[in-house]
Amino acid sequence: MNATRGTAVGSAQSIPEGDGHPLVEPPVLGGPEESDYYLLGDLLTDEQQALRHQVRDFMDREVTPIINPYWERAEFPHELVPKLARLGIAGFQVSGDGCPGMSNVTAGVVILELARGDLSVSTFMGVHSALAMTSIGLLGSKEQRQRFLPPMARLEKIGAFGLTEPAHGSDVVKLETTARREGDSYVLNGHKRWIGNATFADYVIIWARGEDGHVGGYVVEKGTPGFDAQVITGKTALRCVQNAQISLTDVRVPAENRLAGGHTFRDTEEVLLASRFCVAWESVGAAIAGYETALAYAKQRHQFGMPLASFQLVQYRLARMLADITDMVCMQYRLSQLMDEGKFSMPRVALAKMHYTERARAILADARDMLGGNGIVLDYHVARHLCDIEAIDTYEGTDTVQALIVGRDITGYNAFVPVAAGR
Ligand SMILES: Cc1cc2nc3c(=O)[nH]c(=O)nc-3n(C[C@H](O)[C@H](O)[C@H](O)COP(=O)(O)OP(=O)(O)OC[C@H]3O[C@@H](n4cnc5c(N)ncnc54)[C@H](O)[C@@H]3O)c2cc1C
Repeated sequence: MNATRGTAVGSAQSIPEGDGHPLVEPPVLGGPEESDYYLLGDLLTDEQQALRHQVRDFMDREVTPIINPYWERAEFPHELVPKLARLGIAGFQVSGDGCPGMSNVTAGVVILELARGDLSVSTFMGVHSALAMTSIGLLGSKEQRQRFLPPMARLEKIGAFGLTEPAHGSDVVKLETTARREGDSYVLNGHKRWIGNATFADYVIIWARGEDGHVGGYVVEKGTPGFDAQVITGKTALRCVQNAQISLTDVRVPAENRLAGGHTFRDTEEVLLASRFCVAWESVGAAIAGYETALAYAKQRHQFGMPLASFQLVQYRLARMLADITDMVCMQYRLSQLMDEGKFSMPRVALAKMHYTERARAILADARDMLGGNGIVLDYHVARHLCDIEAIDTYEGTDTVQALIVGRDITGYNAFVPVAAGR
């Protein structure tokens, strides 16, 4: 493997020779052969493998060389959107109306490759496809799907998904934003927080409580009076993603923009199940990036006159990482098959999201350490992934929330809401 594949980027200077050995130049990502130890790629069809390589090449060629300055400036790389559109992947598993209709396995390897390259880009695509487009695909009427999905599949119109509120994150089922019917419109009032893409999105799906007390989805189109989205600044993770604090003040939405199949919060949860599955794949991709970088770096970096890769303790750490990645990929392929067979459940998906995110955080922290000082320099990419994985840990439900979902399923006890002593 050529450990220095790709071009040196960012602020990397040409590095002087030291100790008779070349110092390591960024970037140092490896190829798929480095992390696919049990040849799980062989389980993919030729088409799936070709798409996977296409997305990987795209990320290596178009994203890796430009992403760090955007991350430092906390700007979204709009220049990538038309290029992402040409990949034809927007919408992931959503089918019909110009959408790719991928199987869960295909969508999974696509998301893995997006995330291996960059978690801000995979999050942008995830919010647009797995949250906004999936909401419309699963809960929209035929007319709504025909109207909204084709331009979204071409990435001409961008989607966002507004569920979380300032006062309701893990307990978002208690959301307080309201939707009141007035003639041919619904009038929305309330606040949303953390909503990705919302500062520039064309369609923001706002989840609000109707007069019947049930939660529904309302497509708010760009420029609607009373809709105000302010970017949340000072983030230390996913700095390219534009997360917004939203105020809705008498926002009037035509009645035909209420998602026809969204009757209760259970319908919203169908969307969350599908997107949580995609987030699990993101963690696998991020973990692979950490491992590949640590391995390639250890082969190139010399200390005490020998490559780091020759030291027993370094090999032990690399072997542990590889075992974790192999474990995650095996589990995730099986979960994807179960999803394709319709044998899915929220606890099954929650177990995956919890486990991989926890492993990915550990692998990236280890990789960061194995690059020494270079581990905290953006040029080597591990630092960015390490910061970004913190947000993946939180969004779509924290580690704790996933554990509570699994715990309730395996024990029969709901531990979400504690009962006060004496009650
Ligand atoms: C970068 C980013 C992007 C996001 N994008 C979107 C988006 O596009 N759209 C959207 O709608 N939302 C989005 N979110 C919101 C995200 O889903 C929430 O942040 C998440 O659900 C957690 O909610 P919270 O931040 O309010 O934390 P809280 O719910 O306040 O949780 C704080 C802590 O308390 C713990 N906790 C909560 N309840 C319990 C319990 N019962 N038992 C034990 N511990 C508990 C949690 O695990 C956590 O550790 C995004 C968040 C981030 C950070």
